[in-house]
Amino acid sequence: DGHQTTEHEHPRWIRINTIKTSLETVLRTTFADYQQTDSIAEVIKAPSTSKYLHIDAHIPDLIALPPRADLSKHRAYLSGNIIFQDKASCFPAYLLNPEAEDGDIIDACAAPGNKTTHLAAVLSRHASSQDTHPSTHQHIFAFERDKRRAITLTKMVTLAGADSLVTVKGGKDFLTADPEAHENRNVGALLLDPSCSGSGIVGRDDGPTLHLPSTAAEHPSTASSRGKKRKRKALPVPKAADEIPAPSTTAEAEVEEDPPSSPSEDLKSRLESLSAFQLKLLKHAMRFPAARKITYSTCSIHPEENEHVVFNALEHSSATGLGWRILRREEQVDGMKRWHVRGAVQAVDSWPREQLSREVVTTVQEACIRCEKGTGEGTMGFFVAGFVRDGDGDPPAV
Ligand code: SAM
Repeated sequence: DGHQTTEHEHPRWIRINTIKTSLETVLRTTFADYQQTDSIAEVIKAPSTSKYLHIDAHIPDLIALPPRADLSKHRAYLSGNIIFQDKASCFPAYLLNPEAEDGDIIDACAAPGNKTTHLAAVLSRHASSQDTHPSTHQHIFAFERDKRRAITLTKMVTLAGADSLVTVKGGKDFLTADPEAHENRNVGALLLDPSCSGSGIVGRDDGPTLHLPSTAAEHPSTASSRGKKRKRKALPVPKAADEIPAPSTTAEAEVEEDPPSSPSEDLKSRLESLSAFQLKLLKHAMRFPAARKITYSTCSIHPEENEHVVFNALEHSSATGLGWRILRREEQVDGMKRWHVRGAVQAVDSWPREQLSREVVTTVQEACIRCEKGTGEGTMGFFVAGFVRDGDGDPPAV
């Protein structure tokens, strides 16, 4: 299969679903006979059947097993106690770090639900440490405009035990959510993980090639809805690659619904249309009156979909007085602060500094977080940035 060469370098990442269990319990039960190692390299080079396990140093409750380790029939997976989720894909919910004072949360582009269920796990973790029940205070609204993908999302939310925390807005376009609506008055944090080129996905080159997972291994209960190429009509963004969990293939496989007609089908114009759509979503998120935190992420390696969207959004915020600024590295949650791959210097250097000062541009570069594939860290290519808005008062400069 076409994934072979890269899959060997890609560990099986597993997020422990702390809504249902704990890392300690899973280590004691499911992985009792596994040998722990501090070295991710050791796990990556181990054969798929060997029992090596690495506890991640950046994301809580995340472990790595050897590439292709097959747990898709394991009880822990089928019961929702463990979730296959690439390390990089865990960055956004961890970086957003929704806390009790943040109120309700919107996941704007939610299916299949990796980040939605991660958000729910973070909420329930915070709540249990404070001895309160999160659902009495906080709620997650998960938007997914594609009805079929929304079905998968609902199944994943249920399996993860997150129903009481999450309302799935299936078939609903986030752009049609009214920021001023009564139900959105307490939305304090938004996670934005829009459709992108998917160029960071493992097993995929930079170019717009099409890879479908070789097995029907989506979410166990929805495997039957897979394998067919899907047609979407009249959507503003063509040719995006959206992630779906694929336990037997790559850590997160993609479905590309409308492959480009030729390999060179103008990557540039494709990126232009994707980034215009991504910026539109981000600007919309910035309009929610009670919002104080936003994360923006893609599984793309292209600056046009990443740093450049961030710069455009900051310029928009400053031009319109919305008061958003970048979440600086030193303000980030511990594991993200420590993560060494930051915004691409070349992406930042190419940004015309007409409206943003050199200092802002440098701060943004350091604030942005990237993951690169094939570097021995075992992640996919990924990008995430955080935005914050401080309380009332003068809009901040950065
Ligand atoms: N966050 C998901 C996860 O971690 O499992 C992956 C999201 S995938 C990259 C992007 C998703 O956003 C797709 O399912 C797509 O159908 C959906 N989407 C794209 N535009 C949207 C919009 N305007 N409103 C709601 N959902 C949208």
